[in-house]
Amino acid sequence: MTNIETNGRISRRTFLKQLGLAGVLAGAPSCVRKGDGDRPGHGPMTCRTDPKTGRAVSVLGYGCMRWPPAAEPSADGCPIDQDTVNRLVDYAMGHGVNYFDTAPIYCQGWSERVTGIALKRHPRDSYLVATKMSASDDLSPENMTAMYRRSLADLQVDYIDHYLLHAIGGGGMDMFERRFVANGMLDFLLAEREHGRIRHLGWSFHGDIDVFKRVLDMHDTIHWDFVQIQLNYVDWRHAAAYNSDWQAALGDNANAEYLYGELARRNIPVFVMEPLLGGRLANVDQNVLADMKQKRPGHTAASWAMRFAGSLPGVLTVLSGMTYMEHLKDNLSTCSPLEPLSVEEQGFLEDVAVRMAGNRYIPCTDCKYCMPCPYGIDIPAIFLHYNKCVNNGMLPESSRHDGYGQARRAFLIGYDRSVPRLRQAAHCIGCGRCASKCPQGIDIPSQMQSVDRFVERLRRDEP
Ligand code: SF4
Ligand code: SF4
Repeated sequence: MTNIETNGRISRRTFLKQLGLAGVLAGAPSCVRKGDGDRPGHGPMTCRTDPKTGRAVSVLGYGCMRWPPAAEPSADGCPIDQDTVNRLVDYAMGHGVNYFDTAPIYCQGWSERVTGIALKRHPRDSYLVATKMSASDDLSPENMTAMYRRSLADLQVDYIDHYLLHAIGGGGMDMFERRFVANGMLDFLLAEREHGRIRHLGWSFHGDIDVFKRVLDMHDTIHWDFVQIQLNYVDWRHAAAYNSDWQAALGDNANAEYLYGELARRNIPVFVMEPLLGGRLANVDQNVLADMKQKRPGHTAASWAMRFAGSLPGVLTVLSGMTYMEHLKDNLSTCSPLEPLSVEEQGFLEDVAVRMAGNRYIPCTDCKYCMPCPYGIDIPAIFLHYNKCVNNGMLPESSRHDGYGQARRAFLIGYDRSVPRLRQAAHCIGCGRCASKCPQGIDIPSQMQSVDRFVERLRRDEP
């Protein structure tokens, strides 16, 4: 069992000991089903053993939130490129990935259906599928059970391997009670687990730490089979700090070290989301990338982040939303097999995290839960552009700085290219409809104002 220090943090010694354990885990059974002579990496996919079923789970899990868009929606309105999804799923499974995570609200509501079509072409016992009871304006038992049954239908399965109470934490314990207790949904889901139509019952967490503690306390009676948390080398110790330098209205996530430690001490399997922080850790600034390349030539920034999350014992799978084949191949290469971090590498990533924590990111992970905005604002695209400039060291902060003119031009041209004018922050009316939907706790209306003020200042070329 993990030794948690009294202040809730895991000591460096303990963490490194865990990394040693991870080395043992790396020798766990392989999930690879076939060889095709085209294997990224240099061996079989690393797998972890599910303590409940004894089944091997690939350390790389497929997050189905970012499926590739089609050039044109299909006749039934589906905006996703099903043929490409089929190819990605086939390739992933052919190279050892056996865990797929979706949700009713992903991809504007199309992810489950598209994922189900792709998976249906494979034997049911060759993959594990996870989906969720997402938030809804209508929390009636009729509507919520209909959501659950639609998941089974869209995924074309008669049981769900991993079912999650989706994104608990936002809205405090009151919201948890309303979403799952008062309407009888928790009892319903427990009965479904009893009947075997849900094989594992768990939850994903964002936000209010009190909810995390209180739902975790239910473990004694409910026996959660797993919990999904946001975990990466920045959020490990700097989840709250890395956004504190920007305006006060930013989100305030819990440190992953604490969340992981609480789960580890109860032996609850951990599923990791956002190992790349919405792609930010795959696109680190040039100086960080140069240091990474010097230490591990030929390896990407994403591979460092995947190895950080995958090195921890008790982590069964690390979810990555791989839109394109190059993302999939890179992650396969990292996880086949996954090489646990060395002592020196772990220290290096903590140093990188400290450097990044000083940057003024908006902690958007591009999950799109806030979309669509009724006024057409492209919220994630605005934040992504801003963060990209932070990442590249091209945020034009003061005309007194060297390179300000070049950075100013690059920011404004990039903004107009990334976000059509009518969808930019200037057109946000501050209605607040998006605010409660953000799992990162970002005060979106306030951030829109901040970004707009920043852009206007650049446009007027004020110092
Ligand atoms: S506050 Fe702004 S971004 Fe949010 S829903 Fe309203 S108009 Fe859209
Ligand atoms: S603003 Fe929040 S809800 Fe919207 S995409 Fe970003 S993280 Fe997701």
